[in-house]
Amino acid sequence: MADGVKKMFIGGEWVEGSEGRSFPTFNPATGEEIARVAEASEADVDRAVRAAREAFEGKWARTSPTRRARLLYALAQKMREHFDELLALEVRNNGKAISGVRGELDQACENFEYFAGAANKIFGKTTPAAPYLLHYTLREPVGVCAQIVPWNYPLMMASWKLAPALAAGCTVVLKPASATPLTALRLAELVAEVGFPEGVVNVVTGPGATVGRALVSHPGVDKVAFTGETATGREIMRMAADGVKRVSLELGGKSPNLVFADADFDAAVAGSLWAIYTSGGESCEARSRILVEASRYDEFVERFSEKAAALKVGDPMDPETHVGALISAEHWRRVDGYVQAGVEEGARVTVGGGRPDDPALARGHYYRPTVLAGVRNDMRVAREEIFGPVVCVIPFEDEADAVRQANDTRYGLAATVWTRDAARAHRVAAALRAGVVTVNHPFTAFPGTTFGGYKESGFGREMGLEALELYTEVKSVMILTSPRPVLPWKV
Ligand code: NAD
Repeated sequence: MADGVKKMFIGGEWVEGSEGRSFPTFNPATGEEIARVAEASEADVDRAVRAAREAFEGKWARTSPTRRARLLYALAQKMREHFDELLALEVRNNGKAISGVRGELDQACENFEYFAGAANKIFGKTTPAAPYLLHYTLREPVGVCAQIVPWNYPLMMASWKLAPALAAGCTVVLKPASATPLTALRLAELVAEVGFPEGVVNVVTGPGATVGRALVSHPGVDKVAFTGETATGREIMRMAADGVKRVSLELGGKSPNLVFADADFDAAVAGSLWAIYTSGGESCEARSRILVEASRYDEFVERFSEKAAALKVGDPMDPETHVGALISAEHWRRVDGYVQAGVEEGARVTVGGGRPDDPALARGHYYRPTVLAGVRNDMRVAREEIFGPVVCVIPFEDEADAVRQANDTRYGLAATVWTRDAARAHRVAAALRAGVVTVNHPFTAFPGTTFGGYKESGFGREMGLEALELYTEVKSVMILTSPRPVLPWKV
């Protein structure tokens, strides 16, 4: 294997792929190859799962929660010490604007801190089942977890998955996306530095179609936690069915952003811009359908388009940049294909569509923030996840129509509502079929809040104590407290 190939982390050791394969990873802002990374074989996946099993049964599951908490805190601290380095590495490998990635990395650290605090607060219950019984529940770690994450928030998604699993006493084999493996591998170095026992965290790298599949179908895995496309999630569910593995899925979205005529329009325009264009629109919770009350539709489209045109697209390392580069040339073509399809179906591009003019950006996969107006909710662009800086603006007549159109989608991840009417805010929040609803602001995830989808956006939850529970099994224990034996059937 060539020098400089990034190795995987299995059982506390840094290893090459046992079949000697590696794959390139790129900087989307320049198109340059920045590293080669070891590609795991099936045997490597097997080794990682065995290492995780050994660590789980060896000691991790019985490690005191306080020790687990200390290690999680230490990891967060280490990440903060290496914050700028991790930040630069993530931006270089992913291409998104540094201002957004800074927030993600901050949240990744906070997430480890949050679950460090939760590690010794995993409670059971008692139930007054019968006067002669003491009944209680124990929450025990599920076991070995396969955690598979996407390329759009590489380190943050890894923290969402690792932190609750480790806090609960599970061990992990993490597989980052092939497009963005570098920060997960760097995180594994920090995991080793702070002293997590060998095998508690393993990182294997390589394509989903081979490495991901081998991991999900490995009989030694107890739980699969996956974030990615809905189509992949479906396949994972099927594969996990064989071993009746526990599964949680965080999948795609086509989230609505409802702007009522009574909203504060300055806030609604600014917040709606962020809700779609942050992360270059490569965001599961991107509010990619803006539904606007018909009486103010034209005004909204005009104000929104003007601001979208003024967003800075360019060098992801520039702190002033709003929108960086898309992940790959292939993804660029997919996003552009959707814009063309929208136009063919009758949508109007009021701003964006295609590359920025700046010749300095010619080598990167840049796409201008794009607004499609005159969209109907039954058009393809309003139904399928585009996963780029493209928003559809759709009119609605009244509150009932707004809710009907918002819910008329196979997805149900996030939704945002803009209104000054407090009663309506609660009414609409209750009526929306989405896992996260925000009112008069666009932010969907904070440490401690739960995140996840309804419908085909998945099931299970990330973050919050709900995520911790999903890394536990509930055991029901019943103890006879009566001084006399029970003699069933009086035999
Ligand atoms: P993807 O489904 O292509 O890949 C995600 C991960 O799964 C990668 O690590 C990939 O290598 C692996 N994978 C692919 N095929 C596999 C298979 N057959 N078996 C096992 N693993 C496999 O998704 P992506 O393109 O990396 O990410 C974008 C998608 O992720 C979007 O749909 C987005 O909405 C979704 N996403 C959802 C959330 C959420 O919390 N709901 C968060 C971020 C991203």
